[in-house]
This record gives sequence, C-alpha cells and structure tokens, in this order.
Amino acid sequence: MTGKLVIGNWKMNGRLAANLALIDALRADAAVQAAQVAVAPPFAYLGQAAALLAGSNIALAAQDVSAFDKDGAYTGEVSAAMLADVGCRYVLIGHSERRQYFAEDHALLARKLQAAVAAGLIPVYCVGETLAEREADAYKAVIAEQLAVLGALAGRDYVVAYEPVWAIGTGKVASVEQIDDVHQYIRATLLQCHGASDSIRVLYGGSVKADNADAIFSLQSVGGALVGGASLDVESFGRICQAA
Ligand code: 13P
Repeated sequence: MTGKLVIGNWKMNGRLAANLALIDALRADAAVQAAQVAVAPPFAYLGQAAALLAGSNIALAAQDVSAFDKDGAYTGEVSAAMLADVGCRYVLIGHSERRQYFAEDHALLARKLQAAVAAGLIPVYCVGETLAEREADAYKAVIAEQLAVLGALAGRDYVVAYEPVWAIGTGKVASVEQIDDVHQYIRATLLQCHGASDSIRVLYGGSVKADNADAIFSLQSVGGALVGGASLDVESFGRICQAA
C-alpha cells in the first residue's frame, strides 16, 4: 500500500457558489495535489464537481447509490451506472447515517455493493459500532456482522472505512490504540474470511482533523481517512492531505 487515500465526505452540504470556491481552492493546494484524494458531494452537485475536477488528481465519489441495478421506474433513485457515467470513481455504501436514518440493512447494502462493482465503481463500505456497542464490548462482533456482506465481493476492488459512530461529528476521535486494534481486526477478517488481498485499504473516519491526522496516519493498518466536517474547509483538508 503506497500513500494514504483521503476522501472528503461533504454529506448534505454545499451550494453551487460554495462548491466552486472549495474545488478551486483544493485544486490550487499543493498538498491536495500531491495526495491520493477524492471528494463526495451530494448527488445534485456531482455534475458540477465532475466538470470542476476535470484534469485534476482529485477523484469524484458519490455518497450513496441505488440498490436497483437497472434504470427504470424507481423515483428518486440514482443508479450506479449513472454515477459512473458522470465520472464517479468511488461510492460510499453503508455510512452509519444511512444505516441509522434510512434503516439500511445488510440485505440492501449487499445489493448496493453488487450494483456498484457491476458498474465499475469502487465501493467504500462503511462499518463501525455505536457507543453502547463499544461499552458492551460487542464492537468486534458488530463489525464482523457488517463485514459479512463483503464475502460476495471476493476478487473485486473495494475499500473499507471504519467509522465508530460515537466519533462521527462529535470531536471525539478514537485513540490510536483503538483505531489500530479495529483496523488489524478488520484486515485479518477480510483476509481470512472474505478473500481480500493484503493490499486492501481500510480508512479511518470520525473527527479526523488537521491536528490528529499525523498520529492516525502513522499507523500502518490505516490506509487513509474518510473526512466529514474538516473536508469542507480547505486549510484543514489540505493539512490532512499533507499528513497522508
Ligand atoms: P466527521 O469527520 O465530521 O466526524 O465525519 C466523519 C464521517 O462520517 C465521514 O464519513
């Protein structure tokens, strides 16, 4: 694994003018230019972002995808083929906010993963435990259950993101020991049970900021970061890319 991958998840944020300013600034940032990087704007702005990112090293990612793999009468849905068509390379699948607010379950996520790889996208599959699950020492069992759907993706290209729910948007970053423990566990599970190769990337997400990125990226088990809040600020995102 060479270099870390940094993906900015904008979540439900952005407007035409703000996106233009942000992408222009990212394109001009030397640390961003030197990194392996992607941004994930909301669906409405993927076309705008694709045009603004043309010719840059910054890849495009979507935040979600339909489980339906053929276009048709599915009002409100966006297919994997459409995401590939507008220039996405990655797609987030199973983010905890989708699991929590939209009741996305494993059966649905398995279909989304299949739809994504069939369209040539690289899924970034998110896993992570809640605070209650961590306190009950059930986090590894929870993560193992979440990882199980990846068994069907053996031999395909995908990325996993470990995002402890209690560290998302809370400013509470997991300790490097906690991150390393879970990342080693995820890597071992993927290698032993799900046919993944040693080069599988596991990103960390959850309150990654400019001032903790160095410590997080110093872990060999960490293949990069999935950044929420700090990805909306050029200076912070640039410094995270610098640490990568
Ligand atoms: P924050 O970086 O805002 O904690 O969000 C993390 C996240 O959910 C990225 O997908």
